[in-house]
Amino acid sequence: MLHPPGILAMSSDAPDLPFDSPLVPAKLGKRDELRFNCHQGISCFNACCRQADITLTPYDVVRLKKRLGITSTEFLQQHTVPFEMDQHGMPGIKLRTEDEAPVCLLVSDQGCSVYEDRPTACRYYPAGLMAMKESEATSDEAHYFLVREDHCHGHNESRSISLEDYRKEQGVVEYDELNREWYQIILKKRSAGPAVGKPPEISFQLFFMASYDIDRFRRFVLSEAFTKTYVLEEKALSLLKSSDADLMQFGFKLMKQVFFDEQTIAMVDQAIEKRWDERKEIIEARHKAEVDRHLAKQEQAKRDAVDEE
Ligand code: SF4
Ligand code: SF4
Repeated sequence: MLHPPGILAMSSDAPDLPFDSPLVPAKLGKRDELRFNCHQGISCFNACCRQADITLTPYDVVRLKKRLGITSTEFLQQHTVPFEMDQHGMPGIKLRTEDEAPVCLLVSDQGCSVYEDRPTACRYYPAGLMAMKESEATSDEAHYFLVREDHCHGHNESRSISLEDYRKEQGVVEYDELNREWYQIILKKRSAGPAVGKPPEISFQLFFMASYDIDRFRRFVLSEAFTKTYVLEEKALSLLKSSDADLMQFGFKLMKQVFFDEQTIAMVDQAIEKRWDERKEIIEARHKAEVDRHLAKQEQAKRDAVDEE
């Protein structure tokens, strides 16, 4: 069984493909049947990976960087290109392709070189996730879409399979579960609408780091400044040190707390007041130094004036 790329689409209300797509999607429910098959002997073998437009999710990055034996920072530099997911510039990343053609860098003549760790969009194709409600605990109420592209001959095969079984077959259920809270963050941000305005740049920086650069996010979480602010029990801390998936989930909770004020991670008692006191001390020390410098200047000016007389 093969790979193939697709388009991952998320919205609060179907149908709405947020990433520019020339394709007309057909809306699908979980129990709907697909007539589709993809196998090594098919005439279009790898055609999809040579026309790749793959939006990546946080768990895709975790799997791929591990598979390639590099850090998330290296993965971002070597294998992704940034794009904006909405009009406010919410940062997204796509899998890098060749410079001159949309050929995925991970495809070989034998097929996908990272098949067992291929991204969500590749697993879903020719279907994709269209909408998942903010509040739902499972993906039971999610909506999906189906695309038909001329280069894909899998639609001409005789096999029929329910979308639910196709998701299981392609191993995408685990991906959706692990990414679920991240989808919720995107939906909540989107459903807040333009009236809320553009979030500050620092929010986007946190979103990018916690979503995609998990190794840098780990250093941030283990830093003294962070552990002075948030309560992290020893057991939780050791999990965050060793497990990318757990750290990723923690990042989603932190984002919900920071962006939407959902109290999901306990804060150290009076941490904000303490930080304010520390800042106050620094501000007062700076102010005092400024006053001292000013007085010293005045004294010097007086001495110079006396010398001139
Ligand atoms: S990651 Fe694999 S399946 Fe996805 S487009 Fe690249 S080669 Fe194809
Ligand atoms: S059938 Fe479709 S998904 Fe499979 S290799 Fe061909 S183009 Fe790709």
